[in-house]
Amino acid sequence: MFSRCFSVLAIACQKEYYIRTLGVFMEEKAKKQKTNEPVSPLMERLVSLAKRRGFIYAGSEIYGGLGGTWDYGPLGVELKNNIKKEWWKRFVSYRRDMYGIDSSILMNSKVWEASGHLKNFVDPMVDCKKCKGRFRADKIDVSSGCPTCGAKDFTEARPFNMMFKTHAGPVEDSGAEVYLRPETAQGMFVNFKNVIDSFHPKLPFGIAQIGKAFRNEITPGNFIFRTREFEQMEIEYFIKPGGWESQFDYWLGEMRKWTEFLGIAKGVSEREVSAEDRAHYSKRTIDIDFEFPFGKEELYGLAYRTDFDLKNHIEKSGIDLVYYNEETKKKLVPHVIEPTFGVDRTMLAVLLNSFAEEEVKEGEIRAVLKFPARLAPVKVAVFPLVSNKENILAKAEEVHGRLKESIDSVRWDDIGNIGKRYRRQDEIGTPWCVTVDYQTLEDGTVTVRDRDTMKQERIAAGELAGYFHKKLSQ
Ligand code: ATP
Repeated sequence: MFSRCFSVLAIACQKEYYIRTLGVFMEEKAKKQKTNEPVSPLMERLVSLAKRRGFIYAGSEIYGGLGGTWDYGPLGVELKNNIKKEWWKRFVSYRRDMYGIDSSILMNSKVWEASGHLKNFVDPMVDCKKCKGRFRADKIDVSSGCPTCGAKDFTEARPFNMMFKTHAGPVEDSGAEVYLRPETAQGMFVNFKNVIDSFHPKLPFGIAQIGKAFRNEITPGNFIFRTREFEQMEIEYFIKPGGWESQFDYWLGEMRKWTEFLGIAKGVSEREVSAEDRAHYSKRTIDIDFEFPFGKEELYGLAYRTDFDLKNHIEKSGIDLVYYNEETKKKLVPHVIEPTFGVDRTMLAVLLNSFAEEEVKEGEIRAVLKFPARLAPVKVAVFPLVSNKENILAKAEEVHGRLKESIDSVRWDDIGNIGKRYRRQDEIGTPWCVTVDYQTLEDGTVTVRDRDTMKQERIAAGELAGYFHKKLSQ
C-alpha cells in the first residue's frame, strides 16, 4: 500500500491536500519557466518541509538572504551532528590507524601556494552580455544560449579563483592577505609531522577532520547542494609509495559501505573522472554521484593525491615532512589516498531519500522522513494519551524522564490528538512514539508506535530503554 513519493504523488494529485500545495507549486513553476530555472516538485516540497519544520532556513533571510548560504535550524543541526558523529565513529574512533584533528580555517597563505590552489583552484567563468548573468562555462551548454534569458552572446571564458580572500590583522595590505580554506585537506598535510612526532604511527595511517570549507562558487544553487560555505569530512590516508591501487579499492569499498549505512546506496553510482577533469593534484579520481532530482551529481570523491602535497610542502616550507621506515632504515615521502565527503550533500541525499508521501487511509496523506534511526534528530517522542489526567501525566513524565537519561534526544509532545502528534513526528522523522494511557496505570505497559510500519505494540515501560538501544544498534 505504501510507496515512495513519485508513485504516491500520482495517486494523491486529486486530493484536496495536493491541490493546495500543487497550486503553489504551479505558480512557482510558471514563474521559473520565465527564467528557465529548473523545477523539481520533489525538491520544492522538501525545501518547504525543511523550512516549516526547522531543518534548514535561507541564510540572512530577514535581509533578503545571501546567495549560497543556508542556516541549519534546531532539527537540521541535530541531523547534521548525527551524520558527523556516525562518520567520526566509523572512520576515526573505531579504527586504530586514524588520527582525528581540528585545524584552523585561516592558514598561512604559503599553504595555498604550495598546494597549488592559488594558481589552479579556478573555474572557467562566462558572462551573458544581455542579462549580465554569470555562469560556470563547464556547467552550462554555451551553444544553446544563456540559461536565464536565452541569448547566445557570452564573453570569453576566463579563469576565476574560488578562494575567499580576507586580511589577518588591522592592516589591509598585501602581506596580510589570508584565505578561508577551500578544503580541509591541507590541515592534515601541515600537521603530518606533528602527528608523527606525537604518535609515531606505522604506515599506512590516516589523518582525518570534519570542518568548514569556503568556495566563492560562481553559481551556487540547488538548495544545499552547492553553497559558498559548507562542511567536509575528509581523510588523508598515508601509504607507502607503490601499491596504491589496492588502497584505492579498499577506500572505495569503505565509501560504499557508508552509503549503505545512510540508506542511500541505491541512488549512488561511481564515475571515473577523466585526466582533463581531475584536480591538479590527482592521478586517479572516482566521483561518487547521487541521483539528485536535478540530475546525477557529485556526492563524494576519492582521489589518489600521490606525494604531491607533502613534496610541495617540503619544498616550500623547508621542513622535512618525511616518514622514517624502521624496517629499511630509510626515509620516504608517503603517498596519499583521499576519501572526501561533503556533509551538506550527505544531508541533502539523506533528506531526499527519506522523504515520502503516503496515503495512510482514504483521503489522508502523511509526509514522512524515513531516516535511518541513528540519524534521526528525535529518536523517541513520549505522549500522555490525555493531558488533563494527573495520573497519566505523572506516569508519562516519569517514562520521559527515565528514557531521557539513556537515549539521546527524547521529546515530549502533548499538543493535539494522538493522530496529529503521529503526523507531526512522522514529518520530522521520529522513529518511535511512546504513548502512556489508561492501561499503563493498570499493567505498566505503554504503546510503542513504529514510524515506518505504523504498527503499535505494547511494551513494559521498564523495558523501553533496552528495547530502543537494541533497535538503535541494528
Ligand atoms: P563540484 O564538481 O560539484 O564543484 P568538486 O569536485 O569541486 O565538486 P571536491 O573538491 O572534490 O568537489 O570537494 C569534496 C566534496 O566537498 C565534494 O564531493 C562535495 O561533497 C563537497 N563540496 C564541494 N563543493 C561544494 C559546495 N560548493 N557546496 C557543498 N558541498 C561541496
